[in-house]
Amino acid sequence: MTTSPDMPQVPDMHWARWGDPEAAQPLAASARGLVELAFGPAVERATTPLPDVRLPEPALDPALLGELVDLLGTDHVRTDHEARVRHTRGKSTPDLLRMRQGDGSDAPDAVVLPADHAEVAAVVSWCGERRVAVVPFGGGTSVVGGLAARRDGYAGVVALDLRRLDRLVSVDPVSMTAVLEAGVRGPRAEELLAEHGLTLGHFPQSFEYASIGGFAATRSSGQASAGYGRFDQLVVGLTVATPIGTLELGSAPANAAGPDLRELVLGSEGAFGVITSVTVRVRAVPEQKVYETWRFASFGDGAAALRDLVQHDCAPTVLRLSDENETALNLAKPDEVGGDSAGGCLVVTGFEGTPDDVARRRATVSARLEKAGGTSLGAEDGAAWAAGRFHGPYLRDAMLDIGVLVETLETATFWSNLPRLYAAVADALTTALTDEQGGPIVLCHVSHVYETGASLYFTVAAKQDGDGLAQWATAKGAASDAMIAAGATITHHHAVGRDHKPWLAREIGPVGVEMLRAVKERVDPFGVLNPGALVP
Ligand SMILES: Cc1cc2nc3c(=O)[nH]c(=O)nc-3n(C[C@H](O)[C@H](O)[C@H](O)COP(=O)(O)OP(=O)(O)OC[C@H]3O[C@@H](n4cnc5c(N)ncnc54)[C@H](O)[C@@H]3O)c2cc1C
Repeated sequence: MTTSPDMPQVPDMHWARWGDPEAAQPLAASARGLVELAFGPAVERATTPLPDVRLPEPALDPALLGELVDLLGTDHVRTDHEARVRHTRGKSTPDLLRMRQGDGSDAPDAVVLPADHAEVAAVVSWCGERRVAVVPFGGGTSVVGGLAARRDGYAGVVALDLRRLDRLVSVDPVSMTAVLEAGVRGPRAEELLAEHGLTLGHFPQSFEYASIGGFAATRSSGQASAGYGRFDQLVVGLTVATPIGTLELGSAPANAAGPDLRELVLGSEGAFGVITSVTVRVRAVPEQKVYETWRFASFGDGAAALRDLVQHDCAPTVLRLSDENETALNLAKPDEVGGDSAGGCLVVTGFEGTPDDVARRRATVSARLEKAGGTSLGAEDGAAWAAGRFHGPYLRDAMLDIGVLVETLETATFWSNLPRLYAAVADALTTALTDEQGGPIVLCHVSHVYETGASLYFTVAAKQDGDGLAQWATAKGAASDAMIAAGATITHHHAVGRDHKPWLAREIGPVGVEMLRAVKERVDPFGVLNPGALVP
């Protein structure tokens, strides 16, 4: 029950940072200079070595572990220190800070690696019988506390790692659908579908590590959502293992067979069952991809231009707008903080499809953006944005290394309410993070657009105070209060986890809370599925 010899060779994320350990880099000297200008001299922050991370005493008794081994085989039940550390929490900034400080107190007692739906179902049913909490673990990229289960009252906690469910089960090229197992990660899904000339088109910034099941369980939204849709819009069907049996959904593209139960599984964050496969809508691999940038005089002007596009049904595949602060920090080249692209507000447009389709849509969009007051900056910065779009998260670790707290948060509202929401959240963050030594830097962009509204994605940087945890909790609380007070949602695509639960209750009200609890009680009668997540 230690390291498994046939453990699948998926490159593991760094246990206390974002991403591929080989890709970690210190901040470039020029960027470090700017950071010191904003926040004062750098304070180097060390990370506790992995063997020294403090874990809770394993709670699962040997007889129960033996039963798990009987179900899955010795190689697929791990209790070693490293496996437990690697399945502790997700990748929010508080998660990273705790891990850097050697706090592994939310670690599972064991990590189980089932091979298929039948084994997942067996584990879930066993967890119900034995009152063992079970946390589905996809890519481990949660940023809302979705992987830190409650331990009290349980015989133990297991992380159910879905990485062995990594197959493309089938493709229906006539209906343009495909069935993918839940543990397939973003790049592998694209690789498998590309063999059939197909793409999913779902590219969140966590694409490299997040999984198909995780996308569904959190209602993820990718950077090309204007063209391909949010992940929940791509889901046609789902298979879910619950303690009371298997749920299979999706027998037709649309139906009037009562409320759509797929919607109950999407965003359920492991609290209603473990998703083992997802049927998704797919598209032909685009022959051409073109990205470009535009400049608008102000955030308000840019937002009006985006609204005009989407309300006239001509949104490009990628569409985002940075505010003045984010534009000044050079969105197009996220690893080069600073630069000469400051001034006004940057819009990124992207077009994917056949050359004819790209040309036609690009001409329509360009004409509308020009009419709305935009100036084209050409394709160079757009290509740089596309090339660097997965690199941003590595910068957060480089900043944490020198004592600068960086975190992101997101929300959404209707177009008419967008200016109010933007001001309220930016004010709340600024007030909460300002002290006698200075204030934070608050950046924002419109990340996803709809005919009726849009999402706002904030990035905040502040000088770290102490361990940074209390400081961020205050800021996050103030920003979340501001979102709800402004009539917006607590989350557009990061989900609820444990962190957003108090605000979810305010957003959906007491009847909404009762409905969630009712489903939970019937589907998970012993409350073993990801206890503490989602359901207030
Ligand atoms: C740097 C960074 C960038 C990000 N960018 C984006 C972005 O652009 N867009 C976006 O939408 N999100 C983004 N996120 C958030 C995160 O990546 C998403 O929530 C993602 O969808 C989670 O997928 P995962 O496989 O990593 O799930 P995990 O983190 O492993 O799990 C997330 C939650 O879903 C549950 N879960 C996981 N798999 C299953 C399953 N098979 N069945 C049932 N429950 C399951 C878990 O128990 C947990 O509660 C980002 C996160 C980071 C750290």
